[in-house]
Amino acid sequence: MAVQTQKVVEKIVKPFDCLHYIDGKFVESVDKKTFNNVNPVTEEVYGTVAEGSAADIDLAVQAAKRALKEGPWGKMSTQERSNIIRKIGDILLERQEEIAQLESLDTGKHLKFSRHVDAPRAPKNFHFFADYMISVGTEAFQDETNKALNFGYRRPLGVVGLIQPWNLPLFLLTWKLAPALAAGNTVVIKPSELTPMTATLLMEILQEAGVPNGVVNLVHGFGPGAGSAINKHPDIAGIGFIGQVSTGARIMAEAAPTLKKLSFELGGKNPNIIFADVDIDEVVDGTIRSSFTNQGEVCVSGSRIYVERPIFDEFVEKFAAKTRALKVGDPFDMDNDQGALVAKVHYDKVMSYLKIAEEEGGTFVTGGGRPQGLDKGYFIQPTIITGLDDNSRLVREEIFGPVVCVLPFDTEEEVIAKANDTRMGLSNTIWTNDIRRAHRVAQSIESGLSYINCWFLRDLRTPFGGTKDSGLGRVGGVHSWEFYTEITNICVKL
Ligand code: NAD
Repeated sequence: MAVQTQKVVEKIVKPFDCLHYIDGKFVESVDKKTFNNVNPVTEEVYGTVAEGSAADIDLAVQAAKRALKEGPWGKMSTQERSNIIRKIGDILLERQEEIAQLESLDTGKHLKFSRHVDAPRAPKNFHFFADYMISVGTEAFQDETNKALNFGYRRPLGVVGLIQPWNLPLFLLTWKLAPALAAGNTVVIKPSELTPMTATLLMEILQEAGVPNGVVNLVHGFGPGAGSAINKHPDIAGIGFIGQVSTGARIMAEAAPTLKKLSFELGGKNPNIIFADVDIDEVVDGTIRSSFTNQGEVCVSGSRIYVERPIFDEFVEKFAAKTRALKVGDPFDMDNDQGALVAKVHYDKVMSYLKIAEEEGGTFVTGGGRPQGLDKGYFIQPTIITGLDDNSRLVREEIFGPVVCVLPFDTEEEVIAKANDTRMGLSNTIWTNDIRRAHRVAQSIESGLSYINCWFLRDLRTPFGGTKDSGLGRVGGVHSWEFYTEITNICVKL
């Protein structure tokens, strides 16, 4: 589909009502309950969504169990499964524009971003794991007396639950689903209640690609209903979860009695560290992206920006000038740069932090509220705040919106201590031209990801995830493979 180039892009997609997808069929909830889907730009209800409960999750799990044990999926050759997974990627690629538009409609994010990130990265996840699964080896050891050979045999984990967030809905769902399918599992998905549409569309694509019935099942609904039923279901072997730290803790507690394998990608309070030896203009551009991409609703967004004191004022001035130039509004108007936040509940949360900043005596260098002239929709201006101290709630808590704090520092030791003074440890970004310092600092910060002179560059083979409260385990390449497979060591006497 050709990408349109006019100022306000004419929509080729329409919102639709979302049903569950169980055993290859789109179905209502057992109890027929639904909830409303709200357009984040107009605040109007534009569809209904089936509201799943434990009964729907159980139907999905039974279908997934049958597909694993009795259906063609478990009997397919690795090559056949890889071909299907590649085909899913191919169809997603063909339907990129439609997917980008649907994602922008449901989340409020700007179409420039969904075209650039959400839509192209979803097929890439399938293509990557279609290749990975046919090239991956296994471990083998001959013992020291040469009398036995040990080798690892990998089988699927079983029925896997995938519980998803709203910020990059299809991209993050496919990041979990592609390796789960590559490893031969069957799956029950619960997308975010705030962004149900692209996951529902994906089910159509799976059918078209030839995924057998029951291999992938989708149940919509809320955390305490459908989500909790996944946590507790005895026939679900593992959960791949992306979301907030507090939700991760609840899932872990509810999953404990059934001893599920857990993979968690959770929140962050990521520091950006900017040393005085940098090219300030380059760093301002990088920091605009790491602060305000997707309205700041990216898990690796840098929301605490530490700037070495000699360049603090110049950095803030240039950063503020470029931030003021960002246009907020209709995500389909290509003159704009930023769209709306996903939902009222999230808008209210981000706005509450602006109030706290005021109470804490912060200085709003830019933004601080709704953009003028936008009376409807969950829009917030890109906001830079200075003058807060290390104990400020804005410096310590994940806001997950277009709000960043900039703070000065004097020494490398001081900034490392500040960066580590948090329970979270997802990512950090270090800007310096001193290669030794860059490595030193990257190794000193307790986080799963460190970007040096860049931000959010992805290589799907590398470990992705957080330390401390920001996650459990890693995903990507062999790390996803290890999570979604069970290994048996087979010891052969020679
Ligand atoms: P959330 O935790 O509120 O919800 C995520 C999912 O969990 C939703 O589908 C929700 O319905 C479900 N859920 C809620 N309570 C549940 C329960 N008790 N049992 C089972 N499921 C439950 O997160 P969100 O607001 O949708 O997403 C934003 C968060 O996700 C941010 O904290 C962000 O940093 C994080 N995130 C992390 C990564 C990463 O890679 N580390 C990537 C994207 C987003």
